[in-house]
Amino acid sequence: MSEFKTVRGMRDLLPEEARIMKHIEAKARRAGELYGFKEIITPIVESYELLSAKAGDEVRSRMFVFKDMGDRMIALRPEFTASVARLVATALRTEPKPFRLFSVGSIYRYDEPQKGRYREFWQSNFELIGSNRPEADAEIILLTDSFMKSVGLKPAMKIGHVGVLRGIFNQEKLEDKTQNAIMQLMDKQLYDDAMERLENAEISNEGLEIIRRLVELKGSNVFDVVAKMMTTVAGYEKAVGATENLNEILKLISLSGTNIDMTVNAGFARGLEYYTGMIFEVYVPDMNMALGGGGRYDRLIELFGGDPTPAVGVAHGLDRIMLGMQEKKAMEGIGQERTVMVVPVQEELRPEALKIAQQLRNQDIRVEVEVMGRKMGKALEDADRRKIDCVVIVGERELREGAVVLKKLEKREQATVKIEGLAEAIVA
Ligand code: AMP
Repeated sequence: MSEFKTVRGMRDLLPEEARIMKHIEAKARRAGELYGFKEIITPIVESYELLSAKAGDEVRSRMFVFKDMGDRMIALRPEFTASVARLVATALRTEPKPFRLFSVGSIYRYDEPQKGRYREFWQSNFELIGSNRPEADAEIILLTDSFMKSVGLKPAMKIGHVGVLRGIFNQEKLEDKTQNAIMQLMDKQLYDDAMERLENAEISNEGLEIIRRLVELKGSNVFDVVAKMMTTVAGYEKAVGATENLNEILKLISLSGTNIDMTVNAGFARGLEYYTGMIFEVYVPDMNMALGGGGRYDRLIELFGGDPTPAVGVAHGLDRIMLGMQEKKAMEGIGQERTVMVVPVQEELRPEALKIAQQLRNQDIRVEVEVMGRKMGKALEDADRRKIDCVVIVGERELREGAVVLKKLEKREQATVKIEGLAEAIVA
């Protein structure tokens, strides 16, 4: 039989990586709590109909779809937002607004595997539902900034507003299909292709020229960029409104007192079709991929059969955050807890060893018991190799006095300690 392997695009997280991943998840949860979000757990499997309803061609074509044994077309979730929209349209329909929901879990997309791109990956996803105001958008960006900083990264936000381009496209009466195709090309930074597609569409020369100028308009002096956007789009009412909205959001963020690294990019688009307002992505230095992305989607809930409900949200790619941390060496000591190994000197003392181990665990100390029947020398060698902090040696002579030998490996200290005081001696 050939050796078993993971399925293409899937990977194992071995203890070292799993520990970091759990640490990142804990930080995501903490960020959620600090901003007043409540966690929900939704199924990994949903109906294909739900997941494909508003995902857009891009995501839809990359879903893991299959029939279950009851002949239902189902799929593995390619994002959290559809499940949240389903809940808001049904079980949470009458819940007073706003509400803030988050989820942490695995996501599935049939992407081409490469560094930072897998077919199963982890996201933390936050949705603020029920507010159309710029402070809600600001909160989502601030939350993302806090989360990234809490894992030791230096986030930089790339911010845009789909209302600007859409405002022009709509006033130019461009079909939705054409709009979506152009936005998708822009999302992939294929601006030449996007412009070509636009040239072939029915658009005025003025409209075309404005889009051309917008695509070039970007910079970290965000209020300058927004001022230029404003003059560029003059005459396109909805685009002007969108630019004003973006300005408000940026103003709130800057005045919040948090130092956030922001760039405004007027030609910025995102692949998911349901965005209606501000959109953003978060990057870190020296990593050429987004670690998270989100934005405002005011019409999505009604498209899922709910009442018209404005909403804004973000999804963070936890695998990429982990890569960012590895590259930044931000992980030393994360989740490392003191570990004790308990070794009986002879076979007959195994029950005593187990008993002492239990006592220590009851006092919240992490304990491994020697289970290989090794001689003391071998057990100590192994403890040293695995960077165990202390070894408790259970020997007959000390036991008669109600004591054990405590060896602190790093400090190279050894002492006979009463069992009642063992936990304190370990921690000291
Ligand atoms: P999206 O829902 O496409 O906005 O994705 C949100 C975030 O999830 C992205 O910014 C990435 O960090 C992460 N992400 C998306 N696709 C993948 C993938 N195939 N593998 C790993 N992370 C991904």
